[in-house]
Formats: sequence, C-alpha cells, structure tokens
Amino acid sequence: MSEVFNFCAGPAMLPKPVMLKAQSEFVNWHDVGSSVMELSHRSKEYIEIAKKAEADLRTLMSIPSNYKVLFCHGGGRGQFSAVPLNLLPENGKADYIVSGSWSKAAAKEAANYGNINTINIVTKESDTTQVLPTSQWKLSKDAAYVHYCPNETVDGIEIFDVPETDGIPLIADMSSTILSREIDVSKFGVIYAGAQKNIGPSGLTLVIIREDLLGRASKQTPSVLNYQLAAENDSMYNTPPTYAWYLAGLVFEWLLEIGGVKAIAEINRQKAELLYSTVDRNDFYKNDISNENRSLMNIPFWLNDESLNDAFLAEAKSTGLVALKGHRSVGGMRASIYNAMPLDGVAALVNFMNAFAERHKA
Ligand SMILES: *Cc1c(COP(=O)(O)O)cnc(C)c1O
Repeated sequence: MSEVFNFCAGPAMLPKPVMLKAQSEFVNWHDVGSSVMELSHRSKEYIEIAKKAEADLRTLMSIPSNYKVLFCHGGGRGQFSAVPLNLLPENGKADYIVSGSWSKAAAKEAANYGNINTINIVTKESDTTQVLPTSQWKLSKDAAYVHYCPNETVDGIEIFDVPETDGIPLIADMSSTILSREIDVSKFGVIYAGAQKNIGPSGLTLVIIREDLLGRASKQTPSVLNYQLAAENDSMYNTPPTYAWYLAGLVFEWLLEIGGVKAIAEINRQKAELLYSTVDRNDFYKNDISNENRSLMNIPFWLNDESLNDAFLAEAKSTGLVALKGHRSVGGMRASIYNAMPLDGVAALVNFMNAFAERHKA
C-alpha cells in the first residue's frame, strides 16, 4: 500500500520513527530478553523507562517542580469524574466553561458530584461561530475551581488565551492540544489529557497537578482516581498502563529530538495556515469559526454542496487520505492534524481538495 495520511481525531496517527523504534525493540527490549509489555512495573528496567518519560515531559513543557505528573488510567472522561471527586468540596461549587461538546460533557459528568455552574461562551452570529474572550467570562467569586477545554476536538474551537481566575485553581482538559504549542504550566491547577491524540496510544491519561491541590479528595473517591494516592505511589498504586507509558516516552524523545514544543508549534501553525487558507480561498468549502478561535489541531470544514460528501470521502481515501469524516454531531469533514501529522500530509490534503473542487465545480 502506498503512503497513507491518517486524519483521525483519536486514536490518532503516531510518528513513524516512534513506531519503528517500538517495533525494533518490541520482543526484546534493550537485550533483557522480554518485551516492555512483559516487564514488572516494579522492575528496575521499567522504572527507568517510566522516570525517563516523566523527565522528558517535564523538559518539554517546562513543568515547575511544585507540580506532580501522574500517569493514570481512564481517559479524558475518567478525569471528568476525577476532577470533581478530588477538588470539589461538599457544598462547594465549580465553574464549567462550555465551549463545545467536550467541555459540555465534562460539566454534565461533574454535576453528578456537586453544584456545577455552567457558563456558555459560544454564540453564532451571522454565520460565524464567535467565542467570548476570556476577559469577559463571568466567573463566580466563590468557585472551588474553574474548568475549561482549551481545544474542542469535535467543534474545532481553540482558546489561546489563558483566563485570569484570581487565584481560583484553573483546570484544563488539554486532551487534544497538549504539547502542540507552548503553554505556561504555572497558570494551571490541573492539566489533564487522554494520550491518544498528541501523546501516544489510548489507555494512558496524563495529569499534571500543582502539589497544594493534592489531598482534597472526597471520601467516596475511588482509590484509582485519587490524585494523592497516585502521587504518593509514583502512579503505581495499581498497575499502570505500562506499554502506553513506554510509547508516550518514545514520543517525548522524538519531540525533543526535533526541537521540542517550540519547533513543533511552528510546524503546527504552518499546517493549520495551509489548510484554513485553502478552505477560505475556495468557495467550495467553508469553516465558520472566528479567526481568533480556530483550532490548530482539529479543523472541521464543510462542502457547500453536501451531496458531494460521500464522493469527497471516497476519492480522498483512494488518494491515501483517510479518516476525514466529520464527527456525527457536526457533520461535514474534519482533519485532525496533531503533532505526528507531517506538513506533507496537509499539503497532500490541500492538493486533493483543490483538485476535487475543480472536478466538481458546477
Ligand atoms: C478525546 C477527548 C476526550 C475523551 O477522551 P477519552 O480518553 O475517550 O475518555 C475528552 N476531552 C477531549 C478534549 C478530547 O479530545
């Protein structure tokens, strides 16, 4: 099969060099005679892998020393429960910013555990989807924390400014934006991310938490979701997803080798620019998100003539451009262009889009 570019929103493509390295040591890691998958998580060898991955992530994100990094199970949705269980006191309240389907789902889950104040920041005005600037968010003065999703994977909305919360812990679901551009970790109380978009395979969830937020879990918090227990046990209270953690480590090494987050952010900007300019230039396609909030990672676009959707997907696929179908809730197309997607992949997509538009213009 010739080269395929996979635009899936998640699980998403992984960097080729990472998969080749994993393949080369799959059966026999560093001459120990076993696969990483077969090593005890308590073994000296595995602990070396685990520590190296954490150290590399700390370097990549410049994580301050008063933050713990937890390697957890349960995905992004597991954190939708873990956050309120660990951080919402009895009779307390939390603000949930709603900017799309993932933040809405997070708020819904949190409402199972306490008093949740949802704040909608997205409006549709004359065919443009507008997002309220962070300075205009009407946050509560007495919230235990503020939760938001800087990149809405389904809706293609990204919030680049970090809201000012006056000392109230800021919690961010960064599942689809982590490591894609530089951020200042010190502005956040908790950052969490399912791995299957920009970190590695599914099954692993990263939690980066400021230390003073540990030890606040409510009594009924399941032990496997308890941040304090995870921190005390170096994320090995129960068996962690060892192979996913190892693969994440290989992704971190790869990112460091190519110049870190700063370097990949520049490539990500170029990829997004190429794709949005193609959509905007061509009256065959559209994306209605206001310029300031267009996602760099997940780019939904619609064909003006929706009756051509099936032809678009079929022809794209036969050109080696796969998984472009939009999320069922929004329709149209979506190109997810995470760190592992090379500029060549986006170039191939825009070439195809231009040619398709030419062929099908009325
Ligand atoms: C994918 C995604 C999730 C859900 O992740 P799971 O690992 O499937 O639970 C949550 N939030 C965002 C922003 C996502 O992109």
